[in-house]
Amino acid sequence: MNSAIRYYIITAIIALLLILCLVLRGKKGMYGKNYNLAVFNTVGSVSLWGRDEAVLDKAFQDIMFELQGLHNVINAYDAKSELHRLNDTASKEPFVCSDALWNIIIASREAFALTEGAFDPTVGAVMRLWGFHKKKESLPNQEEITAALEKVGLNKVQFDDNAHSAHFPVEGMALDFGGIAKGYAIDIAKTILDKYGIDMYMIDLGGNLLLSEKVPGGEDAFKVSIRDPNDKNAVARVLRLKGCAVATSGNYERSRIIQGRKIGHIMDPATGTPVTQFASVTAITKRGVHSDVFSTAVFVRGRPLAERLRQAVPGTDFVILE
Ligand code: ADP
Ligand code: MG
Repeated sequence: MNSAIRYYIITAIIALLLILCLVLRGKKGMYGKNYNLAVFNTVGSVSLWGRDEAVLDKAFQDIMFELQGLHNVINAYDAKSELHRLNDTASKEPFVCSDALWNIIIASREAFALTEGAFDPTVGAVMRLWGFHKKKESLPNQEEITAALEKVGLNKVQFDDNAHSAHFPVEGMALDFGGIAKGYAIDIAKTILDKYGIDMYMIDLGGNLLLSEKVPGGEDAFKVSIRDPNDKNAVARVLRLKGCAVATSGNYERSRIIQGRKIGHIMDPATGTPVTQFASVTAITKRGVHSDVFSTAVFVRGRPLAERLRQAVPGTDFVILE
């Protein structure tokens, strides 16, 4: 056999082996794995599907690591966190932020602009007034609310985009990422999944969902239930969704009772009072960060804002329960 023929035969055999490998790989089963995580003072689950279990495990480890790292930076209740230090000192002098903190500040400023100020991460001062950081026995009066509102307004914070610093104009101002952190975090998780080439997943971080475009089990969509705000064991609506993020804001989970009045945990930054107009607002968007802030913002500002956001950001929709 001359060397040219031998060369062709060997090449053909290698090509056949390669094709066989690919076919077998294609036939090998898909793994579906479910992981639990606890970050941002809430619980979450990450469901991943793929052919290589080790890759799924590695991706989840990376997600945990990144989200825990972010939590350590922005956990305002932890005196050692960077956000705590910012809140403590930024009224005295500009506070220079790490990249991790600066990036979520940028996302918050965009969210503030898009939602016309209905999402405002400086609502902390009024949250405190309504007993959310420390228990309160009596309702605040109008004078106290007006005084607290002096310390509210992301547009009042002086940001230096070159130095990445924030400076509060008054003492007592504070940033609180409670209305954006979970949505922001699932977008971080998505970049990790993209890096590993994982394209079938469902992430649930304290009710903030991220659903892949591909759906497991030959189904054509993920089923997402919206809880009945008035009956925690009942389902109000079932949505069929894929390739999107979903978040719901409601008053049914984290409210306080002061002097017999139920106080919801979402504040109107314009009036300094808790919002009660809807039972729940579910936002469906392309990005996690948008579903988180839009659900909070529309809960505050209502249907006209929902309509404007639907127009402004393609892929946005809402389910509002009265
Ligand atoms: P949950 O955290 O229960 O999922 P949301 O995503 O709607 O609910 O966020 C509510 C949290 O956001 C509150 O606990 C508070 O920390 C903060 N918050 C309340 N009102 C506002 C607001 N108008 N803008 C931004 N953040 C807010
Ligand atoms: Mg939200």
